[in-house]
Amino acid sequence: MLDLTAIPIVDNHCHPVLLSQHMDALRFRSYCTEASDPSFAEKHVPNTVYYLWLLRQMATVYGCERNEEDILATRNHLGSDALLEHLFRAANIDTLVLDPAYPLSTECYTPERMGQLGHCRMVKMLRLETLMQQLILDYGDFDEVIEHFSTQVSSAHKHGYCAFKSIVAYRTGLNIAEWSKDEATASFAQARAEAIQQGQLRIAYKPLIDYLLHIAFQHAAEQQLPVQFHTGYGDSDTDMRLGNPLHLREVLERKDYQTMQVVLLHESYPYCQLGAYLAAIYPHVYFDLSFAIPFVDKLEMMAFTRQALSVAPASKLMFSTDGIYIPEMHWAGALRGRSVIGQVLDEMIDADELDEDQAYDIAQQILHDTAYSVYKL
Ligand SMILES: [Zn+2]
Repeated sequence: MLDLTAIPIVDNHCHPVLLSQHMDALRFRSYCTEASDPSFAEKHVPNTVYYLWLLRQMATVYGCERNEEDILATRNHLGSDALLEHLFRAANIDTLVLDPAYPLSTECYTPERMGQLGHCRMVKMLRLETLMQQLILDYGDFDEVIEHFSTQVSSAHKHGYCAFKSIVAYRTGLNIAEWSKDEATASFAQARAEAIQQGQLRIAYKPLIDYLLHIAFQHAAEQQLPVQFHTGYGDSDTDMRLGNPLHLREVLERKDYQTMQVVLLHESYPYCQLGAYLAAIYPHVYFDLSFAIPFVDKLEMMAFTRQALSVAPASKLMFSTDGIYIPEMHWAGALRGRSVIGQVLDEMIDADELDEDQAYDIAQQILHDTAYSVYKL
């Protein structure tokens, strides 16, 4: 059995955790599903295979009884700082690549504090749609929005960001099109009206988002900054039909975007084979293997890991957890990732596809090396 515990991981996509970790069972469970309807936390989460697995792992790491009540009481008793430090150290993390735009920063540990408590390096990415929303709230004139947006994205590298992230799949879909300035301006007027009326904005205006994304892509290509795209599995906000990474074809084909590395997040689940295919064909496409979210069990994780490794080079694959809200996610994702990757590589050794040294080298690339080169760590 391949033992990967000694490889320090780069978690190439994750989020901050909440400052207040004291929570009851319903709240804890609500962070273990993408469903927003409360009936899932009440009735269904305790009947999912991945949750039952998570509870058993927690009982082991906290040294307590295996029932949910004892497990949560033990974690609550530890206190937030100690909990985070304990779990992150156990995960053996080299670097966290954080998307600090979600959850709300006022409720979360700062990225810097996450790095301190995790005894690891922390780097940040810039979420493009959050920046767009803020600028549309701040400025009534589209040219002003474009100017400020361009300034910020063109200086992202200088300001220490290692990547951009786009959640356009959650808003208007990955079929990012090219629109005229007039079409984008009309779309901006609608968004601005919503912003003024509601005092806030959830940007879901296609010509506007697509137009601004193309500006970001040009600057990403110029700075050779990677762009992470949410693909596939998400909450009901996402139209899964438009979360298929094949919709990115026009962006991937653009000659002037070839120096912008594209990272397809969450193994594009359930479009895993399609995403891995893109990483196998396009030199600038990378494929993220995410082991805490989407919420699926180990057998399914082995299936997508097998598919990715069967199709794409390991130098195009990167580990992540997508950990968020609770530090158990980051820790369990690390535990899961090492074990799943190890087990799939074992199968490949048994099938005489790889020898043991080659398998270990592949694991090293997925858990650590590929991300080092993509984010220039
Ligand atoms: Zn995420």
